[in-house]
Amino acid sequence: MLDGRRYIGLLSGYKPIGERCPHCGTNTYSAGRKISFCNFCELPVDFSDPGAQYGQASQALFAPLLEQANEGNLDAAIKGAEQLVKGNKDSQLLYLLGVLYRNISTARFQGKDYNQMGFMEPNAKNIRSSLDLTMRWKECFFKAIKVVDGEMQTSVQIDPELVFTRFMCEIRLQDYVNAATTLRSVQTLDKKTAMAEYALLVYSAEKNTKQAEPSLLKALESGELNAYYYLARYLAKRGKLREAEMVLRSLERIARVSMSQELVYRIRLTEDASKL
Ligand SMILES: [Zn+2]
Repeated sequence: MLDGRRYIGLLSGYKPIGERCPHCGTNTYSAGRKISFCNFCELPVDFSDPGAQYGQASQALFAPLLEQANEGNLDAAIKGAEQLVKGNKDSQLLYLLGVLYRNISTARFQGKDYNQMGFMEPNAKNIRSSLDLTMRWKECFFKAIKVVDGEMQTSVQIDPELVFTRFMCEIRLQDYVNAATTLRSVQTLDKKTAMAEYALLVYSAEKNTKQAEPSLLKALESGELNAYYYLARYLAKRGKLREAEMVLRSLERIARVSMSQELVYRIRLTEDASKL
């Protein structure tokens, strides 16, 4: 079993460098890796030549929405996302919109105030909004999968990054049967291996397979910061809630990993329930 405290020590010694994600525009961090994975969208970012990366088409459209969401202007971000989803055939942009909807949905759900007596309006409104957004993020991921599917059938040479995007959609939809098949495609296509390794880490940590420990070990030792989020999940699944929370807190000081928000909330709920 992996020791959370050992990795908290390792984490505090890192001097990570920042780079703008070419996909979503977030400032993302790496601790010495050539290719690391974005702290917001989990797509690959090349750190080997800092500042040289040019934003992809998706970044110009998506980054302003993410900025609005980060400033707390959630309604404006949702409105902008609605406009972009309509008739869109860019699988990466659809994936990014799905991630954004999902994060806002989580924030709305967590924002409901349980301290209010009875079924007061703000509670019902937040829950309704969260459920509505859940339908939307699922729709975005399904659409992205369909687009990549089409490209896999018609292209002679498919971009491994698109197949990786499809894999991430399936993971976030918890469709592990298809994710396992897509994982094999990523492993066959990705000759640089960073995506193949990261996909195996995500799959094994989410599915809690025997591969989780060796994959985590490799990613943690290599300085992949998102791996610390998966370490926290791994610890939480084994009942080590306090250690998991400590890992997430240490990680927060270095990088803002968007997936952590939901996990912190779930850990706190479980801790509160155990106090009953
Ligand atoms: Zn990104």
